[in-house]
Amino acid sequence: MNVAVIGGGIVGTLTAYYLWNQGCQVTIFDRAAEPASATSRANGGQLSYSFCDAMADPQLIPKLPGILLGFDPAFSIRPSLQPDFIRWGLKFLAECRSRQRDDNTRALLTLAQRSAELMETLKQQFGEHADFTQHGKVVLLGHEVDQETLRRIEIKRNLGLELAVLNEQEIIAVEPALADLAEPPVAGIYSPNDAAANAHIFAVCLSQYLVKKGVVTRYGESVDRLVPVDKGRCRIVTGADDKAYSAVVLATGDGATKLLRPHGIKLPVLGMSGYSWTFPATEASPSTSITALSKRLVFSRLGNVVRVAGFADVNPHPARHGTRADTLRNIAAQLLPKGADYENPTENWWHGVRAMTPDSRPILGATALPGVYTNLGHGMLGWTLGAATSEYVAREITKNGG
Ligand SMILES: Cc1cc2nc3c(=O)[nH]c(=O)nc-3n(C[C@H](O)[C@H](O)[C@H](O)COP(=O)(O)OP(=O)(O)OC[C@H]3O[C@@H](n4cnc5c(N)ncnc54)[C@H](O)[C@@H]3O)c2cc1C
Repeated sequence: MNVAVIGGGIVGTLTAYYLWNQGCQVTIFDRAAEPASATSRANGGQLSYSFCDAMADPQLIPKLPGILLGFDPAFSIRPSLQPDFIRWGLKFLAECRSRQRDDNTRALLTLAQRSAELMETLKQQFGEHADFTQHGKVVLLGHEVDQETLRRIEIKRNLGLELAVLNEQEIIAVEPALADLAEPPVAGIYSPNDAAANAHIFAVCLSQYLVKKGVVTRYGESVDRLVPVDKGRCRIVTGADDKAYSAVVLATGDGATKLLRPHGIKLPVLGMSGYSWTFPATEASPSTSITALSKRLVFSRLGNVVRVAGFADVNPHPARHGTRADTLRNIAAQLLPKGADYENPTENWWHGVRAMTPDSRPILGATALPGVYTNLGHGMLGWTLGAATSEYVAREITKNGG
């Protein structure tokens, strides 16, 4: 089978790998000049297999007025009257129910567990330079562990995940760097099996491997149109080419909406901005991945650097990206003052757009357009879930014979 993958981010590269693995001839298209140049470029790096909680949550509802009024430093929404925005918002609100939240979270955790299994092999083969660490993750809670938190932990334990509830002393015993926290945590949740690694480097190494194995990469080439042809095949039209493939996978993040809209397909995907910085590590930097839940901020150790990433901004004004990134840096430096060399970032701030679905579940498999499949909408978790979703989509394609 001759399959085109549109999108050379972490998800597209993994899709290409599993398709090649199953005997397909694969071509990757990406408008960027290199692999993983968009949302996969400088994300938080967390392989957060134990914390895949759906974003739509009944606990978010009372916070929404404050978020809409701009009182939450980590979460902002600039409302829009665009029908797509309103439709997405209504679907999101419908998912903010306890049962829905639990179902969505279970589905994501199941995908994450498959990803964790797959990643064991992938990291041996392609992870040598991607700074994999397996020091677990601590989620800092700003409140006592309440019944609802315990109930959610129980759901995860029932799925086989290892999670421990920790008090302040226990948190510091797990990660001594947290003794320097400006606000001591009331409690935390520790997941020893979570990991971190550099998604960008991993994607570049995997892409280089695939090229050696005969996968064709067409970076710097934007796909303008999809045109269905006979026998379920689809033509890909770029500025330089027009060719039919047995199957096409859209691993484009929110870029798929433009390609599918002319065919009457509306995907429920909303862009949610986030930011990151990469700083040199210090002797007091954490080696465990840290998530400060109330601040929507993560610290990940990637070799000799610390990646600080976070915030969730819906429809932000592009002129504000730099200010938001500065706020992120300031909050991180206040929270964990010795956690990194905040004055000397190894690269400038970065902005990425997560493709969020209302239920936080990625949109996987065949679309209504013959021969066209999606592997997108991973939201906050594309690096964590990408291996499992790519394996799944590749199997769907080869199973259906295109
Ligand atoms: C601040 C931040 C922190 C994050 N932290 C984490 C984390 O710690 N752990 C985790 O698991 N996830 C994290 N994520 C989420 C993760 O980064 C994304 O889910 C993931 O990168 C999505 O990968 P992707 O390959 O689908 O998208 P992308 O990397 O965006 O790739 C899509 C590609 O498609 C290309 N494309 C789109 N349209 C076209 C077209 N018409 N023609 C040609 N090319 C096209 C784009 O150029 C792009 O390269 C974070 C995200 C952000 C923003």
